[in-house]
Amino acid sequence: MIGNIREYEFETDVLIVGGGLAGNNAALGALEKNVKVIVADKGTLERCGATAGGVDHFMAYLNTGPWDTREAYLSYVAKIARGAVDLKVQDAVFCKELEAALERMEKIGCTLKQSDGKYLRTQSLGQPGPYFINFNGKNLKPALAKEARRLGVFALERCMMTDLLYDGERVIGAVGFNIRTGDFYIVKAKATILATGCTTRLFHNPTGLPFNTWQCPQNTGAAQVMAYKVGAKLANMEYMRITVVPKGFSAAGLNALMGMGGRLINAYGEEFMAKYHPMGNKAPRSMLVYAVMKEIQMGNGPIYIDCTHLSEADLNHLKRTLGYDKDTLPDFLEQKGVDLSKEPLEVMYSEGMQAGPSEVCGSGIMIDERTSSSIEGLFACGDCTDQMRCVHLCTTGGYLSGKVAAEYAKNYSHPIRVDKKEIQRLKEAIYRPLWVTGNLDHKTVENVIRRVMWEYAGPVRNEKSLNLAIDKLQSLKEEAQALKAKDFHELMRVHETNQLIDIGTIMCHASLERKETRFGIFHFRSDYPETKEEFEGEIVIFQKDGKVVKEFKKLSYDKIP
Ligand SMILES: Cc1cc2nc3c(=O)[nH]c(=O)nc-3n(C[C@H](O)[C@H](O)[C@H](O)COP(=O)(O)OP(=O)(O)OC[C@H]3O[C@@H](n4cnc5c(N)ncnc54)[C@H](O)[C@@H]3O)c2cc1C
Repeated sequence: MIGNIREYEFETDVLIVGGGLAGNNAALGALEKNVKVIVADKGTLERCGATAGGVDHFMAYLNTGPWDTREAYLSYVAKIARGAVDLKVQDAVFCKELEAALERMEKIGCTLKQSDGKYLRTQSLGQPGPYFINFNGKNLKPALAKEARRLGVFALERCMMTDLLYDGERVIGAVGFNIRTGDFYIVKAKATILATGCTTRLFHNPTGLPFNTWQCPQNTGAAQVMAYKVGAKLANMEYMRITVVPKGFSAAGLNALMGMGGRLINAYGEEFMAKYHPMGNKAPRSMLVYAVMKEIQMGNGPIYIDCTHLSEADLNHLKRTLGYDKDTLPDFLEQKGVDLSKEPLEVMYSEGMQAGPSEVCGSGIMIDERTSSSIEGLFACGDCTDQMRCVHLCTTGGYLSGKVAAEYAKNYSHPIRVDKKEIQRLKEAIYRPLWVTGNLDHKTVENVIRRVMWEYAGPVRNEKSLNLAIDKLQSLKEEAQALKAKDFHELMRVHETNQLIDIGTIMCHASLERKETRFGIFHFRSDYPETKEEFEGEIVIFQKDGKVVKEFKKLSYDKIP
C-alpha cells in the first residue's frame, strides 16, 4: 500500500521547518545571502502561524530616555525572566539585530508607525516604560511572504515535517508529507532551521474548544520533539504559560487592554492587583494570571477588565484596533453585547501552553548566541527555542538564524549521505496510521492528554502528580499505536497527538527537576512553594542512549553584557 504514495526528493542549502514569523524572517536572512532556501509549513506562507491574522505590538527600546536604552531593556529582561533568560543570547538575538529589524519592517511595507508618522507606545506586563510599539500588524505575514517569494524561496506548503535526517554526526534535512495529497517529501539540506513555535492543545481548555487557543493551534511542539529525538538539548521545558482572556473566547488582546489602561476588578468592583504586585495592573503576565486565579478561588469571581474610565480617544483607539490581533475578538464582543465604554468585560484564565514564562524568552531547543542548537547542522528560532518568543524576538532572532545557517551552508563541505533504510523506516512510521485497523481517533486521545496535563502537571503540581502524569502519558503512548487516520489530514492530527504526548512527558521530567516555584503559577510546585536562588538557571533536558538526561545551566545576572 505504501508503494502508492508518491515520493519527492529535494536538495537545498537551508531548510526551514515552520514558515511562521520566525521561519519567514529566517528565510529573508538566508535568501539575502544568496543561498537556496526551502520553507516547509502546514499552511501557506502568507497566512500561517501565530501572526496569521495579525498582531498589534512590537517590543523595542528606542533611546528616548533613561528607561529606553539597551541597558535598561536588558535590566528589565533580567528582572522579569530571571532564571530563564540568558542575557548574552538576548543581546545577540535581539539588541544587535533590533535597528535593522525596525528598518526591515518599513522596507517590506509593514510600518510600525501610526498614520501621523509617529510611534504609539504603551506600557504593560512589568515594563519600566512604554516598550510596546502599538501598530497594525494585519499585513505583516503577507508582506513577509511576498518578500520571501520575491527573493526566490521554494515553499513546501500544506506539508507536515515529522522527523529530522541525522547521519550520526549532523542533521542533514528532514522528512514529511503533504497533508492534502499524502505525497512523501525527503528534503536534504546543508543547514536545517527549526521554527515550529510553542506547544498548544496540551492542556484542558476552559472554553471547552481545544482549537480555540490563545496561540496558534497548529503548533504542537514538532520542533522540540524532532530535535529531542536526535539528542538536541532542550531548556525551559517545565514552564506552563497561561494568560487572561475574555470569558469563553481564547484570544490575544490582554496587552492591548491593559496597555491602554484597563484595570482588573472582581465581582465586588474592587481593584485587586495592588495586593499581588507593586506594579498593580502593569504587573508581569504571570502575576496577572495568578491574581485572577486566586480571586476566583477565593470566591471573588467573576473577574473583569474595566476600561470604562478611559478617555474617549483611548476607547476609540481600542475599539478600532482590538481586532489587529484576532479579527474575531471585536465580533465576539459585539455578539456578547459588550460595549467597553459602558461596562467591564468578563475575563478568565486561558488554557495552558508549553511555552516560555515571559515575553522575552521561550521554551524548547536550547540555542546559543548564533541560534545553533547542541547538534551540528541544526539551528532554531522563534517560540520553539529557549531564548526567543513574541514578535520582537521572532523578527530579530529569526533573521539572525537565517543569516547564520546560510553562512554555515556556504562553508559546508561534507557529502549529504542519506541512509535509504532509515528513510524507508521513517516513511513506514509516518503512513502506518492509515493502515491501522480499528477506530481509535486522535480527538479521544487528545482529550485525555489535556485532562492528564491540566490535573497532574497544570497550575498546581508536585512530585507525586508529575510522576503520575508520566505514567499516564506512557500508557497513552502505547494506546496511540492504535490511532487510526482516515485521510491525510487526520494523519497530521495523529502525528500531532503523538507530539503532544512526547512534549507532555518531557515537560513533566523537567518539572520534576525544578524543585521550586518560579513565575507564579507558570511553575508552581505545591511541594516546593518557594522560589530559590540556587535554581536561577535553566533545566536542560536531552536524550542519550534512550535515557532522559538532565543538567542545570546556571545563569548569571551580575552584569549586563
Ligand atoms: C493572535 C495572536 C496575536 C499575537 N500578538 C502579538 C503581538 O502583538 N506582539 C507580540 O510580541 N506577540 C504576539 N503574539 C505572539 C507572537 O505572534 C508569537 O510569539 C510569534 O509569532 C511566534 O512565531 P514563531 O515563528 O515561533 O511561531 P509561529 O508564527 O506560530 O509559526 C510556527 C509555524 O510552524 C508551523 N508548523 C508547526 N508544526 C509544523 C510541522 N510539523 N511541519 C511544518 N510546519 C509546522 C505552523 O503551521 C506555523 O506556521 C501573538 C500571538 C497570537 C496567536
